[in-house]
Amino acid sequence: MIPYYNLFQHGGKIVHAIVTTINKNEVIVDTETEWGTNIPFEYLIIATGSSHNKPAKMTADSKEEGIAEIIAQRDAVKNANKILIIGGGPVGIELAGEIASVYQDKEVALVHSEGHLLTDQFPKKLSDLLTKQLNELNVKLIFGEKIIFPSSGIGDGLSPLTLETDKGTRIDSDVQFVAFGAKPNTEVIKTLDQSLIEQNTTLVKVKPTLQLEHDDYAHIFALGDITNVKETKLAYRAGLHADVVAKNIIALINNKNLAEYKPGPEVIFIPIGKVLYFFCFNLLMRSF
Ligand SMILES: Cc1cc2nc3c(=O)[nH]c(=O)nc-3n(C[C@H](O)[C@H](O)[C@H](O)COP(=O)(O)OP(=O)(O)OC[C@H]3O[C@@H](n4cnc5c(N)ncnc54)[C@H](O)[C@@H]3O)c2cc1C
Repeated sequence: MIPYYNLFQHGGKIVHAIVTTINKNEVIVDTETEWGTNIPFEYLIIATGSSHNKPAKMTADSKEEGIAEIIAQRDAVKNANKILIIGGGPVGIELAGEIASVYQDKEVALVHSEGHLLTDQFPKKLSDLLTKQLNELNVKLIFGEKIIFPSSGIGDGLSPLTLETDKGTRIDSDVQFVAFGAKPNTEVIKTLDQSLIEQNTTLVKVKPTLQLEHDDYAHIFALGDITNVKETKLAYRAGLHADVVAKNIIALINNKNLAEYKPGPEVIFIPIGKVLYFFCFNLLMRSF
């Protein structure tokens, strides 16, 4: 979707491919036309991010397929009367707010396993405010219940279904969106060294310098959603990581001291329809 042709000012090359293996000084990639090509490196930055259910992140490999995915989802919402959103984190809240504010004639239900929106990590004041906003948009909120997924799954979520929660609530819907279950894309790092992956989180272990946490791989960095840095996973943080990584590669080349990444305060933006909530933990809460 985002063209990369202006990425490098002085040389550089973009390879549109899937990295299948990471070795200590090369990666192996599959392109559309060639499998198993090797690309050698002196320094490597791994930024493979995380996978989410559609529509949060798409699975298409090309712009055309991606646009087709979005159109199918948009049309399904347009034609639906009842929309079910499973998961009341930032993604589910934003999606419910968007749909309910555009289509006031549709029934939007949001099921969340916790007793309130978001989790206990977030201040209660924020979840109360978001609950009030969704209530005003007539979003039906069901807290403390979990949807039981049929063994065959829910397909693309674009067909009518009746689902049940663990507490026996039955919910009819024409369209379903799964808004939980982000998974870090760290499988490929296991091809380099399985011990680099945290067992419980499947995040990659990094040093404060964002080098992989193993002295054999001082020339390999990781950034963004895949890292085990203790902070919420956000795009702007990936950008902050990138600044540290870029500095540190130059420092390694010049034999200088490396910089460390220090997580800043927690910040979150949650748009509900046309209202945007900005929350900076321990500081202030504003809506625009
Ligand atoms: C619905 C939603 C809303 C969000 N809103 C915000 C927001 O408002 N503000 C904010 O700051 N953050 C937001 N985020 C979080 C933000 O999207 C992520 O934190 C950010 O995209 C992480 O960047 P990244 O570079 O680590 O990974 P990604 O953006 O996930 O990029 C990783 C890329 O690597 C590719 N890749 C994976 N494996 C391979 C492989 N083996 N070979 C080649 N390529 C590979 C993937 O296809 C992908 O293109 C949101 C996330 C979601 C899901």
